[in-house]
Amino acid sequence: MIDVCDIQVMKPLLQQHGFHFSKAKGQNFLTARWVPERIAEEAGVDASAGVLEIGPGIGPLTQQLALRASKVCAVEVDHRLKPLLAQTVGEFSNLEILWEDVLRLDVPALVAEKFPGLRPMACANLPYYITSPILTALLEAECFDSVTVMVQKEVAQRIAAKPGSADYSAFSIFCQYYARPEILFDVPAGCFMPQPKVTSAVIQLKVRKERPWQIDDPEIFFRTVRASFAMRRKTLQNGLASGFPELGKTGAGEVIAACGLEPGVRGEKLDIAQFAAVSNEILRRKRHV
Ligand code: SAM
Repeated sequence: MIDVCDIQVMKPLLQQHGFHFSKAKGQNFLTARWVPERIAEEAGVDASAGVLEIGPGIGPLTQQLALRASKVCAVEVDHRLKPLLAQTVGEFSNLEILWEDVLRLDVPALVAEKFPGLRPMACANLPYYITSPILTALLEAECFDSVTVMVQKEVAQRIAAKPGSADYSAFSIFCQYYARPEILFDVPAGCFMPQPKVTSAVIQLKVRKERPWQIDDPEIFFRTVRASFAMRRKTLQNGLASGFPELGKTGAGEVIAACGLEPGVRGEKLDIAQFAAVSNEILRRKRHV
């Protein structure tokens, strides 16, 4: 197996095929072998797993996944990588490469078709320019056991942030609604070619089989969360009043009181259970008008 993380191997390989990195496609390739090894290992990839990889590049993580999993499907948008991947991962009979834009995939249908009887997982060193839409698609697909991805460190911190912290956002709640996030380890910029300007981190999202909250209407729940964060540093009452004009400021105050929250509380202090209570109360009022 070719060690594609070895710069002495990678550079001639890229040159041989006249390959130039595309910034627009978020191409920062790994040059430290311990990173893909550790991602595959800590993701818990084994013979029971079917793994969806996004953006194999020249295949450092693909190799580690294919060595461990029963089946790997790697989705790559850049067709120029075809001859390179043929050289670096062509030997794996349990690997299928799909030459597509991951955001155009029907993820649940793909997982059902490619991984019958296997434990579906997603693993990737993500193209950072589309981190949020990819994570959104992977979590909303509700078909993975876990999603283990490398992202910018600040994004990892935002995903795993706790209520009341500076990093806590509507995206933290979105991710934590679907999964339990855990930051696994940092990856310095020196582990890539070309080097990104930011530090990266690998985060694992263990997808929830059951949600421990009573959420009567997920659409109203997420609308409540968005309304509460749209006006950061403003009170929850003002956020709800502008996100749900039908409530008005008085109605928003009544919702907050009915949930046993302080009148001047800010949205960014609420945990998911409290957002659930607020959204259920909004729904109850909508039904009774
Ligand atoms: N996995 C390789 C590594 O770790 O060295 C490459 C990671 S690089 C950060 C991101 C990869 O995602 C690139 O190969 C890029 O071409 C690919 N990519 C970018 N946008 C994509 C998209 N919309 N769908 C699928 N792959 C995409």
